[in-house]
Amino acid sequence: MLERFADRQESLMRNRLSVIAACGLVFLWGCEDSEPETTQIPPTPVTTQRIVEAASEPGSWLTHGGNYQEQRYSDLTSISTDNVSGLELAWHFEFDTHRGQESTPLMIDGVIYVTSAWSKVFALDAATGELLWRFDPEVPKETGINACCDVVNRGAAYYAGKVFVGTIDGRLIAIDAATGEQAWSAVTVDQSRPYTITGAPRAAKGLVFIGNGGAEYGVRGYVSAYHVESGELAWRFYTVPGDGPDGAASDEVLAQLAAPTWHGNDYLEYGGGGTVWDAIVYDPELDQLYIGTGNGSPWDRALRSQDKGDNLFLSSVVALDPDTGTYLWHYQETPGETWDYTSTQQITLATLAIDGSTRQVLLHAPKNGFFYVLDRTNGQVISAEKFVPVNWAERIDVETGRPVEAPGARYEQEPFVSVVGGAGAHNWQPMSYSPQTGLVYLPVQQVPFVYTKQEGFEYLPGEWNLGVNLGDTPLPPGDDARAEIRAGLMGWLAAWDPVENREVWRVAHDGPWQGGTLATAGGLVFQGLTDHTFRAYDASQGSELWRFPTQDAIITAPISFAVNGTQYIAVTVGNGGGLPLTLPTFGDPAVTPNGRLLVFALGGTASLPALNLELPEPVLVEDFLRPEQSAEGFALYGRFCQSCHGIEALTAGVLPDLRRSPALADPELWRAIVLEGAFSPRGMVGFQGKITAEQTEVLRGYVAQQAARINPPAP
Ligand code: CA
Repeated sequence: MLERFADRQESLMRNRLSVIAACGLVFLWGCEDSEPETTQIPPTPVTTQRIVEAASEPGSWLTHGGNYQEQRYSDLTSISTDNVSGLELAWHFEFDTHRGQESTPLMIDGVIYVTSAWSKVFALDAATGELLWRFDPEVPKETGINACCDVVNRGAAYYAGKVFVGTIDGRLIAIDAATGEQAWSAVTVDQSRPYTITGAPRAAKGLVFIGNGGAEYGVRGYVSAYHVESGELAWRFYTVPGDGPDGAASDEVLAQLAAPTWHGNDYLEYGGGGTVWDAIVYDPELDQLYIGTGNGSPWDRALRSQDKGDNLFLSSVVALDPDTGTYLWHYQETPGETWDYTSTQQITLATLAIDGSTRQVLLHAPKNGFFYVLDRTNGQVISAEKFVPVNWAERIDVETGRPVEAPGARYEQEPFVSVVGGAGAHNWQPMSYSPQTGLVYLPVQQVPFVYTKQEGFEYLPGEWNLGVNLGDTPLPPGDDARAEIRAGLMGWLAAWDPVENREVWRVAHDGPWQGGTLATAGGLVFQGLTDHTFRAYDASQGSELWRFPTQDAIITAPISFAVNGTQYIAVTVGNGGGLPLTLPTFGDPAVTPNGRLLVFALGGTASLPALNLELPEPVLVEDFLRPEQSAEGFALYGRFCQSCHGIEALTAGVLPDLRRSPALADPELWRAIVLEGAFSPRGMVGFQGKITAEQTEVLRGYVAQQAARINPPAP
């Protein structure tokens, strides 16, 4: 139960076996020979100009994506294909939570700024790891239930001496970078609705930009700009129409362009979706701000728009005037979105030679499985090719810019088994682009999903409202069948040529939801994996050159920086964040340690403490569930518990394994927690008013049955 999570991937596993049957701007190599900068130079304030000139200080990591282009490419060369085998741990810092860690750190003037789950911020000495300050926004834990995909945070922004962080409960907070004291705080959402912030703010031109999430529950998406000094709202752009003008920057374009693409009024109640929960990119060359927008709310277009219309600006890249929020252009990647195909994924800017001409492009690999190269001067699509097997659309017609959809893909009459599910062919995990190789290093996954209309859909405020059946069939019994499902969930690292529109090489991984990537001028690509390893590959052909055991999964992307002439590679470690919360290996439960920031250098001498985590024994309770209650238990568990505690209580070790909870043997304690919210301060809300006391017992019986299925450990 705890915080609900997940972009719906785990649900596919319930959908049984059938599923399976089924510096762009300036090319940076001019700096290749420069030594890593030191931090002895008196720092200049980080404002737009310093970030625009990021190529002149390759030892820094100034923004979420490294620079405004968000290429996640480091020009440092001390660590290279020749010597990466000598990379060792230099230091590590442990967070105070084992929830999912999705942060990309910043490194500015010798200080690392890294966020953790629950929206906390830490300032660390970049050479030693010494804690300089920590900031806890004290997010009310009970708001964690609004986070679809764990209480993660993907990072901070730095601008004019302040560090900016968005919080799970919807605040944008400015922190004095020198002292760690709060400078200002702005509530950016209607906190009566299930909005969350997990994405990193971005800053430019004296403004800080922030979006939010919540489309699985039912919210209306938008992006806001706040003045960095005062925290006053500068402008807001809603991505989908509302009930008349908002007095916002989006009013005119929504009325003229977007509203005619929506039908009926149902979406007004649900919010419509289109949340801007990750990509927000400032383009200093063209003075444009690009946002990636999310899926429809509910998923099924039939429920929100009479099953017609493109529903602008869902699943789109939208270009705005950064000063005013005024609409400039848009490109909708999934018109009439009905599959949870968000376009929030990382936007990377580059300048490429295509067909003999120099093009200012935007590179995008959204959930829907097509790799887009857009002309960012006007939003025209240059190319769009499948980077995974895709069966919802045959191709993108580059003349019209629209997909050629496959018959039946909208599951109007029959369920549709889509090779690309709501987990996406690529999710938020960052990709990198190397101007040196001309390749994009993309964490790809294949997580099929069966789209089935939810019979008798009823909007439930504060709960998941998808309009799509998340599966009402238990996992097949037996290890073989489950192993087959597990084997059908795939992940790999792809090196993609955005000019030739083809995969150049790939490295297969064990399952989906692997970490993001970093490319370096040392000819390397770094990626962390969920198998508890951090690896380096040869950027030109993908051979593995180095790996380090990290004791826990990595799901986010590394950075590189330099201090006092030494190049470092840094990455946050920590399982959680959507899919892995409920992607156990089916019968191989785990306990995960607290998240950490690991920092590596050639000749590093640090080591991780020995891992000493013991899995509690399952709690065995006599089976008291009457046979006729089994179906009810399964349904209740699926609705209230599964998205955090795992399918059939099979957890990945991040949130409590209910089969091993002492409360399982104590009806009063169980009721106090599940019904009355005794663990609310820890994030486990009570479901009083949603379920009855009797149903609470049915839930306990269901979980007890799952506990009994665990083989007793050998004596
Ligand atoms: Ca979604």
